[in-house]
Amino acid sequence: MNCCNAKPVIELYSGEKLCKSHFTGYFENKVFKTISRFGLIGKEENIGVAVSGGKDSLTVLHILNGLSRQNPKIKINAIAIDEGIAGYRNKTLETARSFCEKNSIGLHIFSYKEEFGLTLDEMLKILKVKPCTICGIFRRYLLNKKSKELKLTKLATGHNLDDECQSVMMNQMKNNIEASSRLGPNAGLVNNDKFVQRIKPLYLCTEKEATTYAFINNLLDSFNECPNVSQSFRAQVRDMLNDLESKSPGIKYSTINSFLQVLPMLKERFKDGIVKACAKCSEPSANDICNACIYLEKLKKNLIEVK
Ligand code: SF4
Ligand SMILES: [Zn+2]
Ligand SMILES: [Zn+2]
Repeated sequence: MNCCNAKPVIELYSGEKLCKSHFTGYFENKVFKTISRFGLIGKEENIGVAVSGGKDSLTVLHILNGLSRQNPKIKINAIAIDEGIAGYRNKTLETARSFCEKNSIGLHIFSYKEEFGLTLDEMLKILKVKPCTICGIFRRYLLNKKSKELKLTKLATGHNLDDECQSVMMNQMKNNIEASSRLGPNAGLVNNDKFVQRIKPLYLCTEKEATTYAFINNLLDSFNECPNVSQSFRAQVRDMLNDLESKSPGIKYSTINSFLQVLPMLKERFKDGIVKACAKCSEPSANDICNACIYLEKLKKNLIEVK
């Protein structure tokens, strides 16, 4: 079924086909409903939007910037991490830079090289680990630390329904249910001053919807993917879910809807998980020393051995 006589730009899983204008309205409405349903944004906020320069993060930045223009009590800044991935991150950061310049949005860039002394590419030459494992640990560490320094009240990320679905399935498969208790549209540990609360305005938007929105609204003109992504377990789960979705449309929505029903029970079950301050860096940690400090120590040791 078509929405009107204009050319459709997307077919939703329900079979409905929407033109550019109706789809843009549908998408933005879904994001605003998500913000209001889960109470993601209060009356007065200083929000940092974690931007990679990819379609999801630019979509969140674009929509929240519109919200901020209508309501000056909601301040928006962009925050980007340069992991140091040759041939990839420099291009996406350029996209982020020019988007922020064009829209007069403040952009703060922090790099692994400056903060840890090594780029991700250099770290991977020293340690034999999957790239996404250390990349994710250092990125979360830096985003949380810098968000506190910037006095942000919330950190908005571009995670969409597909990303969340993958995380839920990965945690199930790896028997890491406690990690699932920290998922959801309000992620991390809410009401803990060591953490800046992370919010996911695209929580109920699929990857296909976010990609379509970004391209038809000219938020970016090319698609770049990290060269390390194919080595990740997430990529395998993503492909499996996409295959299942093509055979049984709607399974991603069903997975997230059932996850949202059990999430309050998971939060209750793991609410006593003690959050300590890392003995080395004071950042939050489940153990005496945080994962970032453990890997930094390993890098230092291996670097000395290599020399
Ligand atoms: S795909 Fe992996 S290595 Fe590449 S940016 Fe994402 S987490 Fe980092
Ligand atoms: Zn239409
Ligand atoms: Zn630490």
